[in-house]
Amino acid sequence: MKVIKIGGGCLKNGPAAQKIIELIAQRGEGHIFVLSAFYGVTDILLTGIEKALKNENDIPLIMNRLRTFHNTIIKNLVEDGNKRKQLSKQLSTVFQRLERYFYGVSFTREATPRMKDMIATCGERISAVILSKTLAGMGKESCFLLPEEIGIISDGKFMDASAIMSQTSKNMKAALKSHMTPNMIVFIPGFYGVSQEGEITSFGRGGSDYSAAVVAASVQADVLEIWKDTEGFMTADPDNISHCRLIPELTYEEAAELSYTGAGILHPRTVEPVKMQGIDIAIKNTYNPDAPGSLIKKDAKTAEQIVKSVSYTTDISVLKIYASGIGARFGILSQITENLASAGINIKSVITSQTCISLLLSRNDIEKGHQSIKKIDPKPYRSTSTIIDVALVSIVGEGLQNNRGVAAKCFTAVSDANVNIEMISFGTSNAALYFLVHEDKLDTTIHALHDMFFN
Ligand code: ASP
Ligand code: MG
Repeated sequence: MKVIKIGGGCLKNGPAAQKIIELIAQRGEGHIFVLSAFYGVTDILLTGIEKALKNENDIPLIMNRLRTFHNTIIKNLVEDGNKRKQLSKQLSTVFQRLERYFYGVSFTREATPRMKDMIATCGERISAVILSKTLAGMGKESCFLLPEEIGIISDGKFMDASAIMSQTSKNMKAALKSHMTPNMIVFIPGFYGVSQEGEITSFGRGGSDYSAAVVAASVQADVLEIWKDTEGFMTADPDNISHCRLIPELTYEEAAELSYTGAGILHPRTVEPVKMQGIDIAIKNTYNPDAPGSLIKKDAKTAEQIVKSVSYTTDISVLKIYASGIGARFGILSQITENLASAGINIKSVITSQTCISLLLSRNDIEKGHQSIKKIDPKPYRSTSTIIDVALVSIVGEGLQNNRGVAAKCFTAVSDANVNIEMISFGTSNAALYFLVHEDKLDTTIHALHDMFFN
């Protein structure tokens, strides 16, 4: 049995959804599909919360937008007028509940993490109903099962939950027994699980990849397929380097590192649940479904030059904290990280020397993070500063650390291109080397590295 994840990028509009329905009808029998919301819907829901907080009168507009968007898709998928009406009726319960949530937010002037998760996950519940009912209308055996029904149990952390695998696996095996027949096509909304108390908790943005991995591991699927509108992992971002190539095989570690900086092919935590079971992850392009794509597996081949991809992110900035004898004083790092955690700020990485702690933060967080550190009294540091206009570049390939000369090659390429390296992190993972360059040197850096390792 396969578990197949369908991303929002494949569910952009009616014609795209129609194409997916055809593919599922041809290849989906006996398999489980974990779904994202239709493209852009989660964003509409989350901005809807902000709007509802400010102005009650915006709620009908938000609901109208969501209803119209989904109805247009249904029109493309279901020809028969009666069946279409039935489907719309089924969805009206979800929409009604959603509307009440928005008014709840508006009246209480409060969007608790609990409420945010209840609202944000509605997109997946809608897409599961639509796809499953469309296939059923075509005479296929199809059903949808909600995470709360089949027992995808989470640790209860709102907006950033993790699944409790032992319980989830036990629940799912029992729940699926009665549903899985050779012809059945099962849909499960991705993006969330429920706490022990039954509260809806999302797995964080982009979390339906992780959901699919949790499901695959729980039912011990033969393979986890991720259906996308791209070929798979590439040696670089095609937007920067048009002649980049597909990476046929990656290890779990390489995929995880690339998900962190790379082009958003996978949610960074997707490999966690399946890695333990040794389940392969296959990235499949829905526009070319028979192409091999990228395969993530335990014993993936090492590249001759070790490096498999050059990747980067510009969502990075540095908060520098200067103090003396950092390595000789205890408590300073924990004081700073605790301060940032209580301000709700995620630290992407830390690099320290004896005189400076450099914290890598998302650009959206840097100002808030800096202000928060400045408020610590008494100050455990001498001074602070921030750097915004940098990019984090990485080369990824398992064995980077134990293979002599790879790092040297990387830095030679960068230096020959006249680029100054602002900061380096090496040795923390055997599959990646990270460094910072000035943002205006990013393109030069990426080209120099790609030429060095792939040309
Ligand atoms: N729909 C959710 C999001 O946009 C989850 C996902 O698509 O993976 O974040
Ligand atoms: Mg996604």
